[in-house]
Amino acid sequence: MAEIVCEGIAKRFADGTQALQPTDLTIRDGEFFVLVGPSGCGKSTLLKIIVGLERPSAGEVRVAGEAVTGRDPKDRNMAMVFQSYAIYPHMTVRENMAFPLKLGRLPEAEIATRVEEAAAILELTELLGRKPAALSGGQRQRVAMGRAIVRQPAAFLLDEPLSNLDAKLRVQMRTELGRLQRRLGTTTVYVTHDQTEALTLGERIAVLRRGAVQQVGTPRELYQSPANLFVAGFIGSPAMNLLPATLEGDRLRLPMLELVLPEPAPGVPAAREVIAGIRPEDFRVAPGDGDATSFRADVELVEWLGADLFVYFDVAALRSARLGVLEEELGLPAEHDGRLRLVARLGSDCRVREGAG
Ligand code: ATP
Repeated sequence: MAEIVCEGIAKRFADGTQALQPTDLTIRDGEFFVLVGPSGCGKSTLLKIIVGLERPSAGEVRVAGEAVTGRDPKDRNMAMVFQSYAIYPHMTVRENMAFPLKLGRLPEAEIATRVEEAAAILELTELLGRKPAALSGGQRQRVAMGRAIVRQPAAFLLDEPLSNLDAKLRVQMRTELGRLQRRLGTTTVYVTHDQTEALTLGERIAVLRRGAVQQVGTPRELYQSPANLFVAGFIGSPAMNLLPATLEGDRLRLPMLELVLPEPAPGVPAAREVIAGIRPEDFRVAPGDGDATSFRADVELVEWLGADLFVYFDVAALRSARLGVLEEELGLPAEHDGRLRLVARLGSDCRVREGAG
C-alpha cells in the first residue's frame, strides 16, 4: 500500500508568496495521478512537499498511513525525476543506474540484478556500457527513469519529465511512461502544465490554479463536467468556446441564436445571465439554409491538421455582444479588440474557406 494523503497542506514562502492554499488530496495506491495547471500555480511546490524537498507551512503528508511530514526525502522511499534529469556525464548507463543503490549500500549482486531488470524493462540493455553523451534525449530520459525504478520506491514523483524532449519524442515517451507505470503498478504523481499530457496519462487529474485545487477527477469527468470556468477553458484543445448568454427555463439565448435545452435548468426561475460553453467539436457546417440551430459565420482562419480542420470564425452578433462578465471571469486583456472569435473542429473533408461567409 502506498496511498499518499495530503491533509491541509499549505505553503507560504519566506517572502510572503502563498504558493499553496490549504489542500486536501488523496492519491490512491498504484494510481497514475497528474497535477496540472498553468505556470506558477503551485504544482512543483506540492510535489516537493510530498517528496520532502520543501516543508509545508501547515498540514500533513501521509504515505501508506504513516505521517512523513518532517522526514528527509531519503527516508520517504520515493523516487523523483525532474525536468532536467540529472544523470552523471562521466558515468556509464550502468553506473548511473547503480548509483542510488550504491549509496544505499546494497550488496553488489543485488545491485547488478536490479540494474539488469530495470534496463530490460526500459530497453536499455544494449546501452548499459555507454556514457550519456552517446545517447539520444529519449534514451537519457529512460536512464533517469531507470535510476528511479532500481530503487523500487513506494512512489514515483515526476516533475515535467518530458518537457526537454522534442514534440515527437515527447509523444513516444509519454506512451512508454504510461505503459511502464501500468507494468510496475507503482503509485505515480506526475506534474505537467500540458493538458494533453494530463488527459492521456492521468487515471485521475487535479487541476490547480493560483495554489488551489479546482477539481479532481478522471480525464472524462474533467472534460465532460468541468467544475468551473477555469477547468472548462483549461481542459481541451482547442479550448472550449465561452460566450455570454441568457438562460430562462429551457431557453438558452446565445448572441447568435436561441437554443431549446433538452430540459429546463434546475433552480433558474427567471432569466439569468450565464456563460455558455460550446466545445469546438460540437459545431457542424449546416447544409443549405440550415435550421433553427444554425447561424451565419465569417471564417477568419482555417488550420488544416490532417484528420481535423480548425476553423476560427466570427459572427456579427458577437461583435456587439456584452462581454463584461467574460472579461471579468476570464481576465481578457484590457486592450483586446472586444471581439470574440469562436473555433470549430470539423472533419478535414469539410469544405470551408478563409474569408467565406
Ligand atoms: P511551473 O510550471 O512554472 O514550474 P508551478 O506550478 O510548478 O510552475 P511552483 O514552482 O510550485 O509553480 O511555484 C508556485 C509559486 O510559488 C510561484 O508563484 C513561484 O514563484 C513561487 N515560489 C516557488 N518557489 C519559491 C521560493 N523558494 N520562494 C518564493 N516563492 C517561490
